[in-house]
Amino acid sequence: DRLLTGQHREEDYDLEGGLRPQTLEDYMGQENVKERLRIFIEAARQRREALDHVLLYGPPGLGKTTLSHIIANEMNVNIRITSGPAIERAGDLAAILTNLQENDVLFIDEIHRLNRSVEEILYPAMEDYALDIIIGKGPSARSIRLDLCKFTLIGATTRAGLLTSPLRDRFGVICKLELYDNEQLTDIVIRSAGILNVEIEEAGAREIATRSRGTPRIANRLLKRVRDFAQVRGDGVITKEIADQALELLEIDYLGLDGVDKKMIKIMIHHFKGGPVGLDTLAASTGEERNTIEDVYEPYLLQLGFINRTPRGRTVTEKAYKHFNIPFGE
Ligand code: ADP
Repeated sequence: DRLLTGQHREEDYDLEGGLRPQTLEDYMGQENVKERLRIFIEAARQRREALDHVLLYGPPGLGKTTLSHIIANEMNVNIRITSGPAIERAGDLAAILTNLQENDVLFIDEIHRLNRSVEEILYPAMEDYALDIIIGKGPSARSIRLDLCKFTLIGATTRAGLLTSPLRDRFGVICKLELYDNEQLTDIVIRSAGILNVEIEEAGAREIATRSRGTPRIANRLLKRVRDFAQVRGDGVITKEIADQALELLEIDYLGLDGVDKKMIKIMIHHFKGGPVGLDTLAASTGEERNTIEDVYEPYLLQLGFINRTPRGRTVTEKAYKHFNIPFGE
């Protein structure tokens, strides 16, 4: 249970509702994605139609759920939220679909985890807004088709490649969310501090931003921890010094790396001469899950330029040796 992952943690619950931006205007960064969505939303609204189905992919905590709420908001329709693992049977999905109203948004998080029989219900629903129901069994079984209201499916996943291709092909709009840069995260921290009524200096916000691994969810989480520290050890104001001390106490270094990154990089260097190391080997030797390494830990290490992805596996770069004070080439 790691502090520095974009994956949802129990402690995020009381914060997230309030900190979620409500409009595209308030949603920081992701300029390309916003620009495209603005046009599609405007066009759909003018035609009074449902927005095309949207697939959002990227590491956890980058704002996929938030963006789905915003889309529904901007379209002025209801949103129904569920997730791949929560829909166990085809009938569960059929019930959800038949309850949607005209142009509503259905958000399915972790859509790659839908099981096969549920996924097959989605195909005609997405394509023809129809539900095919089989009645009876054996040779006398027949299928009847029910019409559904037009709706927009928004699917979220960490990697587009995790979806089966028939499902992926049925999305008209496919958007990749990128890790945020330090400027954008600083703005997000300042905005969140404003909502939480915490006084913060820009340098303090930047200190939190640079350690948030490009991820707004982590930035908000760290802000909350630093706020507590500022209140107890300072006068409540988040200055650069206060942020620094608080984050040091949490054992997060100035790049937002912690013991897990260190362990992974060190194993790659000491056991595999800096790579290339295959993902499965890396998973086995660190005791982490392959998918977690690929979707959660690795994107930030790649962005920092600490590891490279090669066809034969991952390699550690000289920059990482330097950061962890290990002589290169040993
Ligand atoms: P995901 O669904 O990708 O895991 P969420 O949409 O739940 O991520 O976002 C996590 C938190 O990060 C939200 O509570 C929200 O406050 C914040 N957040 C995400 N994206 C942005 C953004 N672009 N601007 C401001 N805050 C954001």
